[in-house]
Amino acid sequence: MNTNAKGTVYLVGAGPGDPGLLTLRGADLLQRAGAVVHDALTNPVLLERAPPGAERFDVGKRAGRRNTRQTTINRLLVGLARRHECVVRLKGGDPFVFGRGGEEALFLAREGVPFEVVPGVTSAVGALACAGIPLTHRGVSSSVSFVTGHRASIPPLSAGTLVVFMGLGRVAEIARELVRRGRPASTPVAVVDQGTLPDQRVVEGTLGDIGRRVRQARLPGPALIVVGEVVRLRAGLVSGDPEPSARVPALAAAAPEAS
Ligand code: SAH
Repeated sequence: MNTNAKGTVYLVGAGPGDPGLLTLRGADLLQRAGAVVHDALTNPVLLERAPPGAERFDVGKRAGRRNTRQTTINRLLVGLARRHECVVRLKGGDPFVFGRGGEEALFLAREGVPFEVVPGVTSAVGALACAGIPLTHRGVSSSVSFVTGHRASIPPLSAGTLVVFMGLGRVAEIARELVRRGRPASTPVAVVDQGTLPDQRVVEGTLGDIGRRVRQARLPGPALIVVGEVVRLRAGLVSGDPEPSARVPALAAAAPEAS
């Protein structure tokens, strides 16, 4: 047990990208942070909320780039908790959704460092909302699976919505794999790139052609792959206007569907 901890480490979800989607609790903690440790996927605008004198550490991880090893991050957090009352570990989306937040929390617990997890809007929820794709919809999909595109994590055939994280570089393979496992090649697919941000782009297609469409679109990422019938609802929930403000789903029009 490490009894030298002076402060608390807050594992804060930064939300999917749009700085307006940080929670009030997250914003409050950033304002009093003595140190902020952040990822590549956290919006740099959020760091401006921290006091000018706060220590800042970029431990960003992006596919294909060198990243700070998890053990180094863990030790950094423990060290900072000895020197600061409030250490903010800012993580993209929600800390406990494919963010290794659980590993960091377990390490802090083992070291006896007080910590708290502050949830964030996961990109699966935020980016899909801004893309006009409901995760579930009565009569269309009543379940959602969050999977990663890295490993063989494609679940068995289900009628629900599938959201694939970290799969942009393997869209074609993932689509082929899903067809091999029994989903029709005509199943609708959307790839939501830089969701909730001004440069958000959505590429729509089917399992049969999404690989080609994504290759042509040259999306920079980060991106989510959404597979399932809910993708079809998008046509009625977004206007054709490419302006960011116009991409906000027409919630008023969708409201009568909710019950
Ligand atoms: N904890 C994060 C996920 C981290 S894994 C969360 O809750 O959102 C990183 C993956 O998240 C990326 O490869 C991408 O698939 C997805 N992602 C994160 N931000 C995104 C965004 N703004 N738009 C689309 N996908 C995003």
